Amino acid sequence: MVTQQDSPYNWGMVVDIDRCTGCQACVLACQVENNVPLNTENLYKQQRIYSWIRIERYWEGDFPDVKARFIPILCQQCGNAPCEPVCPVYATYHNNEGMNVQIYNRCVGTRYCANGCPYHVRFFNYWEPVWPESLRNQLNPDVTVRSRGVMEKCSFCVHRIRRAERKARGEDRLVMDGEIQSACSQACPTDALVFGNLNDLTSRVSKMSKDDRHYKLLDDKLGTDPNVVYLARVEEKVEEGAAAAHG
Ligand code: SF4
Repeated sequence: MVTQQDSPYNWGMVVDIDRCTGCQACVLACQVENNVPLNTENLYKQQRIYSWIRIERYWEGDFPDVKARFIPILCQQCGNAPCEPVCPVYATYHNNEGMNVQIYNRCVGTRYCANGCPYHVRFFNYWEPVWPESLRNQLNPDVTVRSRGVMEKCSFCVHRIRRAERKARGEDRLVMDGEIQSACSQACPTDALVFGNLNDLTSRVSKMSKDDRHYKLLDDKLGTDPNVVYLARVEEKVEEGAAAAHG
């Protein structure tokens, strides 16, 4: 059995909800970087849109003090992933760098993994993806273009990770903190997404994951042990007297 201790790397992400403005730059960056098929009107109508990372919107409070909140949801790269044991052909498995890996050419399309995932972050290619002629040259050559019948999901931009690891190995060192950014974390204008090595106790992601505000999605209920850590929103406390003075 391989464990995270076998590797110097345990890739993870911190998502600071207090910084997320819901702008969706991360969604677009992920789509472009990873050759995620375009969401057509037809896909929307059939509720089969693709998005490896999505921004969930929810509301807090009652009218007129209702506030819109946003939370980015991506594959949580669970250490105890419900999607892994149900795959009959081992197309999804856990590697020794803390990532839940999807092997496209093993997938036979049973979709058991998507049913097992409580975060709904797996997407199935029901149709052969088609890009408009004008967009074909923008496909990323480092990322497989998936065909019909294949399950897919966020890979933490594994092609960027592998490139940095190869470079570091050639220079006889470990990947440094900040050397790798996933497409979403690179695009986020508010620095709400921080990617890095959780095994490196001095890394930014490792320090942030121990912040007082940290929590993991559904982990207390399901024991999924995600490698994505959320930081709770900080609520501004308004003194009653001050609120009245501001009208
Ligand atoms: S890019 Fe950053 S601020 Fe915008 S939706 Fe994504 S996480 Fe939130």
